[in-house]
Amino acid sequence: MSAKILSGKEIAEAIKSEVSADIARLRDDHGVTPCLAVVRVGDDPASAVYVGNKVKTSEAIGLISEHHHLPDTVTHAELVSLVKELNARPDVDGILVQLPLPDQIDAREILETIDPEKDVDGFHPINVGRLSQGEKALVPCTPAGVIEILKRSGIPIAGQHAVIVGRSNIVGKPMAMLLLQENATVTICHSRTRDLPSVTSQADILVAAIGRAGFIRGEHIREGATVIDVGINNVADVDFAHELFGEDEIEKRLAAIEKRGFTLVGDVNPKEAMAKAGSFTPVPGGVGLLTVAMLMKNTVEAAKMRRKI
Ligand code: NAP
Repeated sequence: MSAKILSGKEIAEAIKSEVSADIARLRDDHGVTPCLAVVRVGDDPASAVYVGNKVKTSEAIGLISEHHHLPDTVTHAELVSLVKELNARPDVDGILVQLPLPDQIDAREILETIDPEKDVDGFHPINVGRLSQGEKALVPCTPAGVIEILKRSGIPIAGQHAVIVGRSNIVGKPMAMLLLQENATVTICHSRTRDLPSVTSQADILVAAIGRAGFIRGEHIREGATVIDVGINNVADVDFAHELFGEDEIEKRLAAIEKRGFTLVGDVNPKEAMAKAGSFTPVPGGVGLLTVAMLMKNTVEAAKMRRKI
């Protein structure tokens, strides 16, 4: 058996074109073009790539985007002051402060300073609380993207047993809340879960958000399950790459290691998932593509909610 690949590409493109049409409608009917302000501190290369993608996609679909790049010597008070300034500006609909932040900055306080109505990452406690109470909220982009993949791929959620490995505030916990809202029976696993394979192998839908390359193996997966791989890890070791990829994929991955020094791998062993799962999201090309698309959607939602249009 070979799992069906759940590609994020078509789904992300469909969402972006829907959001783009919504932006055009807001402009034509209300004279409003939503604006996303992205704040980046320091020169972390991964953050630079993530922010670059967010700004580029915003512009491509017709949002106004602002990129505030501050030096890594910025003080906590200066960053708070910038966020407050963006909160006060009526033309700014979404504010995103790219994590991680340097040590002198209290990231929690920064996220709590963002106006909840402009909190397009959905990390503010008000939005977390609203999500857990099933109220309308701005929801974290990555788990919201997973729900879109499941729904748009026709995978039933209601009544299914969904098992999530990982309980972070940005993926695992909001993922659990969203699956619960869709009427799944939800189990959350973490590093202290006893006999992980015995729990995960009961899942109809298994979501891996762990941060360890290829951690979920065949033994963790029920035959025919839907496996959603949220992880993004770099693998540089050639022998490990051989453990992760089958004949159809290995040459491409070895070429990437040779050229860039690493290949991108999720938290699931793709070779073993392909042999056991019913459907599976690839890395790259799966959940990661949805995150930016959902950020665009959240920005337009934030504009509509705050402006009451
Ligand atoms: P995180 O904050 O480090 O959380 C990892 C979670 O995995 C924790 O809850 C941890 O349990 C659990 N865990 C670690 N080792 C485990 C083990 N041996 N058995 C069971 N559970 C274990 O990570 P995150 O921010 O949620 O990110 C998870 C992954 O998703 C990373 O690879 C990240 O790069 C990726 N990610 C991707 C996107 C995207 O756009 N696709 C977005 C965000 C994150 P404890 O709580 O007990 O420590």
